[in-house]
Amino acid sequence: MSDFHNQRTVARTRKAYRCGWCHQRIEKASSCVVTQGVFEGDFYRGRYHPECSEATTLYYKTHRCWGEEMPEGPMERGGIRWLEEVPVEENQTKETP
Ligand SMILES: [Zn+2]
Repeated sequence: MSDFHNQRTVARTRKAYRCGWCHQRIEKASSCVVTQGVFEGDFYRGRYHPECSEATTLYYKTHRCWGEEMPEGPMERGGIRWLEEVPVEENQTKETP
C-alpha cells in the first residue's frame, strides 16, 4: 500500500470538533482543515483550525522533520511552540478543557 496525503478546507463544519494541534474546540459552523491519508500503512485523519494547519507546515519546515510524526500536543494555537512553553500572559485565550 502506498502512502498518500489529502488535505481540504471545510468552510463550515456541521458540528464541533477538537483541533488535533492545539486541542481547543473548533466551533460548529466555523472553518477547519481536514487532513487524511495513509502513512506507513496506518490510516490517519485530523481536523485543525486553519491557523493550526499552517502551524503544522511551519513546524515541519522549521524542524526539517518531514515524514516524522506530528507532536501530540497540545501546541500553541496557530504557533509551533508546545503549549507549556508559552508564557501564561500570552495565553489568555486558553479554554479550560
Ligand atoms: Zn487549533
